[in-house]
Amino acid sequence: MAAKGDTFYAWAADAACQERGECGGAVTALLTHALKSGMVDAVLAVKKGQDIYDAVPTLITDPAEIAQTAGSLHCGTLLLSKLVKQYLDGAEKMRIAVPVKGCDAMGLYELAKRNQVNLDNVLMIGLNCGGSVSPVAARKMIREKFGVDPDDVVKEEIDKGQFIIVTKDGQHKGISMDELEEEGFGRRSNCRR
Ligand SMILES: Cc1cc2nc3c(=O)[nH]c(=O)nc-3n(C[C@H](O)[C@H](O)[C@H](O)COP(=O)(O)OP(=O)(O)OC[C@H]3O[C@@H](n4cnc5c(N)ncnc54)[C@H](O)[C@@H]3O)c2cc1C
Repeated sequence: MAAKGDTFYAWAADAACQERGECGGAVTALLTHALKSGMVDAVLAVKKGQDIYDAVPTLITDPAEIAQTAGSLHCGTLLLSKLVKQYLDGAEKMRIAVPVKGCDAMGLYELAKRNQVNLDNVLMIGLNCGGSVSPVAARKMIREKFGVDPDDVVKEEIDKGQFIIVTKDGQHKGISMDELEEEGFGRRSNCRR
């Protein structure tokens, strides 16, 4: 039995979910469990749209669709708390599970203080987010600093202080975030602050 404050290493039990997830798929597995078990009515998560720069928020009620949202989109600068308030009645009539960046969690708490979100109906799963990169700035950075056509990038990740891209021919290229940020690229200034 887990107690408040305990720490666990966790990953998804099913291999496909582990593979699709950013770091083992635990978040996707927890969201799937929350929906399947009836703990929540819906999951609000983020999926890839046209390309890796296009993060699309999506409300899911069928557990089979949650797999589409596995993985982290570091160019996804959307603020999920605002969507809960504006388009989901502040979770007043629906129990919703949401994976949250620090800013999303903070936004939900601030809106709840103003009675604009009902936290009793929100299940937050925190992401260890170190910051997101604006999609327009990311495209410019990839072109100018990595010397790569941004449309050739199929995956990006932030690992051990580097922003790493993977191109469609399987090449990996990483540049230190410090170096990128010294030159005005990298994470959004709000995230850095
Ligand atoms: C923008 C961002 C920056 C991150 N930076 C770091 C970091 O610097 N260091 C670190 O250790 N970990 C970072 N993480 C967390 C890490 O990438 C994984 O999300 C986390 O380890 C969980 O892994 P998982 O395999 O269980 O997640 P998965 O099972 O792959 O689930 C990831 C969940 O995140 C949601 N998601 C994807 N993109 C976004 C987004 N832009 N906004 C909100 N939700 C989103 C997906 O919908 C999905 O539900 C970051 C995550 C994000 C989204």
